[in-house]
Amino acid sequence: QRQEYARLRDLPAATRDGTAVSLRINAGLMIDLNHLESTGADGVGLYRTEIPFMVRSTFPDVEEQTSIYARILDAAAGRPVAFRTLDVGGDKVLPYVGAFDDENPAMGWRAIRIGLDRPAMLRRQLRALVAAAGARPLQVMFPMVAEVAEFRAASHLLALELHRAKARGAITPARLSVGLMLEVPSLIWQLEALLTEVDFVSIGTNDLMQFLFAADRGNPRVGSRYDSLSPAALRALRFVVDSCDKAGVEVSVCGEMAGRPIEALTLLGLGVRTLSMSPGSLGAVKSMLRSLDLVHFAAYLRSLLDGSERSLRDKIMLYARDRGV
Ligand code: PEP
Ligand code: MG
Repeated sequence: QRQEYARLRDLPAATRDGTAVSLRINAGLMIDLNHLESTGADGVGLYRTEIPFMVRSTFPDVEEQTSIYARILDAAAGRPVAFRTLDVGGDKVLPYVGAFDDENPAMGWRAIRIGLDRPAMLRRQLRALVAAAGARPLQVMFPMVAEVAEFRAASHLLALELHRAKARGAITPARLSVGLMLEVPSLIWQLEALLTEVDFVSIGTNDLMQFLFAADRGNPRVGSRYDSLSPAALRALRFVVDSCDKAGVEVSVCGEMAGRPIEALTLLGLGVRTLSMSPGSLGAVKSMLRSLDLVHFAAYLRSLLDGSERSLRDKIMLYARDRGV
């Protein structure tokens, strides 16, 4: 199978009936970038900046951060990289940032909430990203945003850093793309306002599903209580994707769903055209989509979405099996 996926590397990521799909990898460490070549992915859809922070014993300063991000951009060699600002707190603890004693860490002081409460820390990271990009395009996204105002506040900090860099005569990115991770359900009902302000949306289904179903993503006891292929989950995703399409805003999925063939199939059926996943999943997803008649499947999926069954998984799996997807 490995050989089969290697053979796929240079073949286009397009469905059998001709829809192009962008397949990207999720990365965190420098070595992850090697997988761009080995998988034939066309970019990094999620670069988790907290990973290099987690393997250090002190907070990296601006210079050190700049060098990390610059090396990532060098390794990506012109392919897009979506840098997600620090997503610490929750299950990702930085020993040197202080104690996190929240009772519900996943819903506590984490990610952009820390960034906005400690703007100097977030600004240093944004300064490093701007410096690392130089003249190259820069793509930044903010995690765990729950309100449009938070996105505005975080983007404002980025604007300040750009201004600062320009005032110092530095070369600034040719293209700047600012977006967010959609992982908190409250954002779904703010899309109208949100989509006039963001350049792109990346759906973090790991957190989004955890919050939609109020089921801890790390707790196996509740993990099987719901299915991300339930009509409820898929209708929520469909609404997000349709809203982004209407507003002309690029939408992608970077949660684990994107890397599981049956889930990826379903996401394509909902209209998602950019999937970002762990590198090891890319071959299987590409193999799936190259055998897919997407127009036919999308019509079938649409006919299922109004149902009230607990999960559509069996039906979608049967479809895939019967049609050799
Ligand atoms: C997600 O929540 O789906 C996601 C991609 O982010 P993380 O897994 O890093 O929380
Ligand atoms: Mg997340």
